[in-house]
Amino acid sequence: MKLKIAIQKSGRLHEDSIKLLKECGIDINNGVNKLKTEASNFPLEVFFLRDDDIPQYVEDGVADIGMVGENVVLEKNRQVQEVEKLGFGKCRLSVAVSKTVEYTGVQDLAGLRIATSYPVIVEQFLQKNNVQAEIHEISGSVEIAPGIGLADAICDLVSSGSTLFMNGLKEAEVILKSQAVLIANKGLDAAQQQVLNKLLFRIQAVKKARNNKYILLNAPNNKLDEIIRLLPGMKSPTVLPLAEEGWSSVHSVLNENDFWDIIESLKAAGAQGILVVPIEKMII
Ligand code: ATP
Ligand code: ZN
Repeated sequence: MKLKIAIQKSGRLHEDSIKLLKECGIDINNGVNKLKTEASNFPLEVFFLRDDDIPQYVEDGVADIGMVGENVVLEKNRQVQEVEKLGFGKCRLSVAVSKTVEYTGVQDLAGLRIATSYPVIVEQFLQKNNVQAEIHEISGSVEIAPGIGLADAICDLVSSGSTLFMNGLKEAEVILKSQAVLIANKGLDAAQQQVLNKLLFRIQAVKKARNNKYILLNAPNNKLDEIIRLLPGMKSPTVLPLAEEGWSSVHSVLNENDFWDIIESLKAAGAQGILVVPIEKMII
C-alpha cells in the first residue's frame, strides 16, 4: 500500500513541499512535467497538482493527503482534516483600501465593492463583523481592481505589502494568517493512517530541528551556575570538564525565537568560544 500525497505542481509552495519531504528522508525524483512520481524509500506516491484542486482531490480520496495553503483549504471549504501546520508558505489574507482613505475599522467597509479571489472567506469575515458590502470575485491581478474603477477595496494575499503599495493601496484588515498545512482525507483506513503517522513523526522532527539550534560554549566553573540558569536545554544542559583546570564545556539546545537574547546574556555572564550549529532532526 502506498499513501498518495498531493503537492503543488509549480508555484510558491512547490519547492518547500519537496524540500520538506527530502528532509524527512524521502527520496522522490520530480522530473519536470510529471503528473506523479513514487518515493523510492517510503510508501508514498506523489501527485503534482494546482493548489486550488488539492482540497477536492483529498476530499474525494484521489489523494489521501496533501500540502496546501490554509487560505485555499478555508476558501474551498471541503470536508478534509487539517493534520499539521508545515511552517512554510507564510502569508496574510488582507483587506486593502486606497492609501488616500482614512481607515478606522471594519465598519468602514460597509457599502464598498471588494474585489477578491477569496469570496467565501471574505463573505464569512463580513458576516462575522455584521458588515454589508459587495463582493466581486476575480481570479487574478486583484490589486489593480481599484485603480481601474472595478472596486473600492480588495482582499488578497500579502507577504511584504510592496505590491499593495505599488498599486496605491494600504493594508487595512488582516483576515487570516496563513501557512502551508498538511490535510488528510477523513476516511483513511488503518494502513493509510499508519503511514501518515510515520510521515507526521518525521515532519515534526524536521520542524523542531528547524526551530532549534545546538549550542556549545566554554565557561569558567565559577560562572557555571549562572550560565546554566540561562539555558533551557531539552532536559538540562550537558556539562563536561575541559582539559584546562577550572573550565567546563556546556552543550544545550536553543529555540530560534529567543536565540539572540540568550546568546547576549551568556556572553555577558562569562561564556566564551560560543558555537552554534544547526540540528538536522530533533526527536523528543
Ligand atoms: P497554482 O498554479 O498552483 O494555482 P497559484 O498561482 O494559485 O498556483 P501561488 O502564487 O503559487 O498560487 O501561491 C500558492 C500559495 O502560496 C498561496 O495559496 C499561499 O498559501 C502561499 N503564499 C505565500 N506567500 C504568498 C504571497 N506573497 N502571495 C501569494 N501566495 C503566497
Ligand atoms: Zn492556485
